[in-house]
Formats: sequence, C-alpha cells, structure tokens
Amino acid sequence: MKSALAGVVALLLCAPLWAKTPWQTITEPVAGASQAIGSFSNGCIVGARPLPQQSVNYQVMRPDQLRYFGHPDLLAFISRLGAQVHQRTGGNMLVGDMAMPAGGRFSSGHASHQSGLDVDIWLQLPRQRWSAQQLLRPQPIDLVLASGKQVNPAVWRPEVTTLIKLAAQDHDVTRIFVNPAIKKQLCLEAGGDRDWLRKVRPWFAHRAHMHVRLRCPAGSLECQDQPAPPAGDGCGAELDSWFVPAKPGTTQPGSKTPPPLPPSCQALLDNHFRGD
Ligand SMILES: [Zn+2]
Repeated sequence: MKSALAGVVALLLCAPLWAKTPWQTITEPVAGASQAIGSFSNGCIVGARPLPQQSVNYQVMRPDQLRYFGHPDLLAFISRLGAQVHQRTGGNMLVGDMAMPAGGRFSSGHASHQSGLDVDIWLQLPRQRWSAQQLLRPQPIDLVLASGKQVNPAVWRPEVTTLIKLAAQDHDVTRIFVNPAIKKQLCLEAGGDRDWLRKVRPWFAHRAHMHVRLRCPAGSLECQDQPAPPAGDGCGAELDSWFVPAKPGTTQPGSKTPPPLPPSCQALLDNHFRGD
C-alpha cells in the first residue's frame, strides 16, 4: 500500500508535464452521491455521470478520450441547451471536453475542467448530424482572423451568437470564456438586451469553442464557486485592454506547480490506488 501511495506522490511531484496525471488513469466514476469537490482548476468529482452518447439534442466529439463525464447538473444543462439551440437555429450542438471519470487534473490542454462543472462547446452548428468518424476526428473552425483583432466575417454565423446567448441566459451558468475578438463581436450584435454579456468573459485561445462553467450544485458542500464577474456588459475598457499590444498581464499564464489537492480529492486518489 505504501509503495502505491509513494508512486502517486512521485507522479504528482516529479512527472514531466506531458506524463499522465494519476487522474488520467482512472477509467470509471467514483461511486457515491454526486459531489463536485474543490475549485474548477483544483478539484475532482464523486458520482460523475457519463453524458449519454445518443441524444437528439447534441453530439459528443472524441468519445475515445473518456472526457464526457460530469455532475448531473452539467448533463442536464447540455441537454437543455442543445434542445433550445436546435429549436432556434436548426443546428446540431457539438460537445467537446467535459471532465474525466473522477475529474482531476490533466497533464496538458486544460487548467480547469476538474470538478465536473465545465464543458467545451464548439462554435459551429452543422445542419447535418456528423458521422461517428467525423466525431472522432472533428474539424474546428477558427472564427478569429490571424490578427486576433476581429472575427473572420467569412466564417462567422449569427447562430453562434444565438448559441452563446442562450448558454449565458441559463440560470446554472456563471461564466463563459471566448476569444476577445468573439466577445467584441457579441458586444456589437447584442443591441439593447445586454445583461447576458456579463457572463461572457474574454480569454486566451477559445477561437473555435466556448468554455461554459456552471455554479456549484446545491448539494456539493465542498465545491468552491468563483466570485461573480464584474458588473456591466464587459464591452468597454476591460475588453479594449485585450487588444493593446504587449500589455502586462495579457500573456498566457505559464504552467505552475499545482497547489495541494483538496483533502477529499487526495483521499479519493489514495483510496483508488490502494485497491491493488
Ligand atoms: Zn474548456
């Protein structure tokens, strides 16, 4: 038992960045009542559920990655949003990464997606449902010009605004991350109804997908919410600051040493790796 634990510790402390984290070796959800634990970028989940792969409301991309797990609230949100979007636009919603079966940290690619409350949704709504082969090798559409200053008018579609707006108006959603150029376009298109823009936050990358984050579920007592976004539509000085070259603080944050796990997540790992 000791050696297994020591192995986990060694993985956590010494692994090169590209090596799997222990969370990436867990292939089944942890049994129990569904609980999102910790923060979005340092947490885990007990009782995660797989997003059903067959649904009229959405399609799941790269199912071979086993990243389609989440809190039941996240599953319900995805299904609800997909139905609304289909009804309003006729398009099919494409679901990307959620969380791994027990949540936790990825070795690369995502800083958050750890507690079963985050989902990436692609910003394209194909009229035809994709084949299994297309879902395994999905082709993203970069909606932002190479300059990064605005969306590419050749590929931007009004239904993308509908998709983001519907997501932002959902009562369970607290934040949506998109590229600053996409936020700028939403600010232009919003007209007089602007309350929903508050939740839409500019962030690095996110040129072909939005990242949607839910509030902590009612029964998840160890889940840590973020403070609400600043008041207002976020279309003014804060957004402008993203387009000023070389402003300090706008460089992509580098990888840091992970903080200690929440005790319940550490216990979950310890239990899992003690099993042999
Ligand atoms: Zn994401």
